[in-house]
Amino acid sequence: MAVVPVELGGRSYEVRIGKGLLHGAAQQCVPLLRKPRVPIVTDRNVAQHWRDAVESSFADAAIESRWFVLEPGEAAKSWENLRRVTDWLLAEQVERGDHVLALGGGVIGDLVGFAAAILKRGCGFIQLPTTLLAQVDSSVGGKTAINTGAGKNLIGAFHQPSLVLADLDALDTLPDREMRAGYAEVLKYGVLGDREFFDWLAANGKAVLAREDTPLEYAVATSVAAKARIVAEDERETADRRALLNLGHTFGHALEAETGFSDRLLHGEAVALGMVLAARYSARRGQISDADAERVTRAVDAAGLPSEIAALGLGCDGRRLADHMLHDKKMDAGTLPFVLLRAIGDAHVARDVELADVSEFLNEELRAG
Ligand code: NAD
Ligand code: ZN
Repeated sequence: MAVVPVELGGRSYEVRIGKGLLHGAAQQCVPLLRKPRVPIVTDRNVAQHWRDAVESSFADAAIESRWFVLEPGEAAKSWENLRRVTDWLLAEQVERGDHVLALGGGVIGDLVGFAAAILKRGCGFIQLPTTLLAQVDSSVGGKTAINTGAGKNLIGAFHQPSLVLADLDALDTLPDREMRAGYAEVLKYGVLGDREFFDWLAANGKAVLAREDTPLEYAVATSVAAKARIVAEDERETADRRALLNLGHTFGHALEAETGFSDRLLHGEAVALGMVLAARYSARRGQISDADAERVTRAVDAAGLPSEIAALGLGCDGRRLADHMLHDKKMDAGTLPFVLLRAIGDAHVARDVELADVSEFLNEELRAG
């Protein structure tokens, strides 16, 4: 097991990464529980694969697990579910010193984390992330949120968990496409700030995607440590540090918006292609070598992630994609902050990017191939 210590929000806690953590959930969580009862929120897909293991682990420790199972999907991050979950936690008589368990992907983590943030002005919660994306990204950093009609993640809070248990076994039941999508965020840590890790992934990415124990644990632990470090440097996103985590996300957001945030393009797939575009755009500005930009493309391609925008058959022009970026909440009025690259492992936030130039670049990319 790898343990990554995290210090955020004036608290310190551990992200434990390894095998068997769900089968041993009770053993891991018991020191944090005050009652012989534990509330667990999950979704139907995760429950199907993992509820029995977690439930019997707690039963063996004479702790009754109480379950709230939501329908899977992004739509679960709603006001309605926030109300249902908080009502249920109140009915379960959860107090401030108690812990709620969030068993699932980023959707469950975000929703349950937010419920915990506001329940009695904040109760404890433990993250049991079951997707690669949740293990390397959403379960670390303390951002919690729901979606509204006005957009994604617009209502939320910073609330740190007391413990994160990233069980690598959980990824065995994760569909391969979701695994690859999460891998895009792993690759992102290498591209934005760790060239050595990028090189390691170029050699070992296939083994990570095949869920080989040792490479998988190393990839998750390295990613978690990278995210924890960057977030700690800029916890509330007031400087440019945390913004580096948005590498690939500005282009990616435009692609997600254009495809209607649908299954046509998963978030991680959009980020992967977004990273390729950020690298190529950086090369066009003379900031990164063509060779490095090409290596980013190859790494994305080798992982079975989309690397060519022309292949998506979007049927729109560059201006339309650039307009989506303007509507992204990450855009400050009047400026277009973009995470660009000087080299693999050396990202920065550029504030002089002109919309017209990006549109032209995207037109060329859309015509290519
Ligand atoms: P998700 O939670 O929807 O999970 C993806 C799919 O996999 C779902 O259908 C789920 O039911 C299923 N699943 C989960 N674990 C499984 C397992 N072990 N076996 C089989 N199926 C499993 O999506 P996600 O990609 O994990 O997370 C996306 C969400 O995370 C978005 O809402 C996004 O906004 C949020 N997010 C938050 C942060 C943050 O900092 N808080 C960062 C990145 C993303
Ligand atoms: Zn992302």
